[in-house]
Amino acid sequence: MRLFTVGPVEMFDVVKNVRAASDSVPYFRTKEFSELMLDTDVLLKKFAGTDESSKTVYLTASGTGAMEAAVINCFSSSDRLLVINGGGFGQRFCDICEIHGIPYDAVLLEYGETLSESHLAKFRDVAYTGLLVNIDETSTGQLYDIKLLSDFCRAKNMYLVVDAISSFLCDPFSMDRHGVDVMIASSQKGACISPGLSMIVLSNRIVQERVLKSNLRSLYFDFKSYFQNFQRGQTPFTPAVGICVELNVSLHMIDEVGLDNHLQHIADVASHFRQKAVEVLPVSLPGFPLSNAITPLIFEEPIAYKVFEVLKNKYDIFVNPTGGSLADISLRVAHIGQTDMADNDMLLEYMQRAILDIRDDN
Ligand SMILES: *Cc1c(COP(=O)(O)O)cnc(C)c1O
Repeated sequence: MRLFTVGPVEMFDVVKNVRAASDSVPYFRTKEFSELMLDTDVLLKKFAGTDESSKTVYLTASGTGAMEAAVINCFSSSDRLLVINGGGFGQRFCDICEIHGIPYDAVLLEYGETLSESHLAKFRDVAYTGLLVNIDETSTGQLYDIKLLSDFCRAKNMYLVVDAISSFLCDPFSMDRHGVDVMIASSQKGACISPGLSMIVLSNRIVQERVLKSNLRSLYFDFKSYFQNFQRGQTPFTPAVGICVELNVSLHMIDEVGLDNHLQHIADVASHFRQKAVEVLPVSLPGFPLSNAITPLIFEEPIAYKVFEVLKNKYDIFVNPTGGSLADISLRVAHIGQTDMADNDMLLEYMQRAILDIRDDN
């Protein structure tokens, strides 16, 4: 099996090795596990571009659980939020606001549209308390301009909440430089480990002004108890212990390589794939800026989903299909995890074969 998917991803050998070596996950109410978590936290904050004054919540939940938890710990029905909605994950933030009765407006983008100053202009004179954005809208692959959003929030004194789930550890990012108050990350994407653990990093400002003062009625998702427990490197409830160990290994591996080198490798693999793909396949790329994490391919014929199926069933290779109305014309190929240019060449060759297989069948 070979994964070119955005999450779960093709794991690094060091991570596969800890998974294979550990027949049982360790017991976790120990000094040793606390030390592992505190050690992880130093690296996580370093890579998120923030300092020790920020607080992390290690939540055993998929990314959507973390998005929902972040929103309800920071905002309530007395707020008004602006949501960048340019695809499936932007819509998810809207749904969360809807369900929890938090008033919001959405900046709606049509497929193919690049988020720009002009989209924000008509919201400039409305009072908002926060902005929610999926910095890489994984459903389309668009990487939004963090500076544009950050300047907008600073000028309007809004909190900035960034779902960086598919962008963290793939694209350059700094919470402190861009005044980000909440960064949401998840284990199975950029960290390249098993699904099930999410990391929510919160600025001291939003912790003090919002989370600690919140009247949230939730037992499991109340961040206040996570902050208190994490002072000693623990979580209030049983965490996904095995994934916490994987996270520590994965972040140390990135630290040894150096974050900049790690990001450059992903950028190089992505740009190599993009150049080659348009040369050898009947596809084009969208015109908007792309995250290094993933390349959306737009097919000239409506065969995208068939290509996905042939790759999976005949060649045991996995790429991401695209949901909804784009299913037949778009596939997405991820560049994260253990993957390099030789893998790109291999994938492109099998994609060419799959296209021939499909044409032969017709
Ligand atoms: C994957 C992803 C999520 C979370 O999805 P889950 O299936 O709940 O883990 C959220 N936002 C973005 C941008 C994602 O790519």
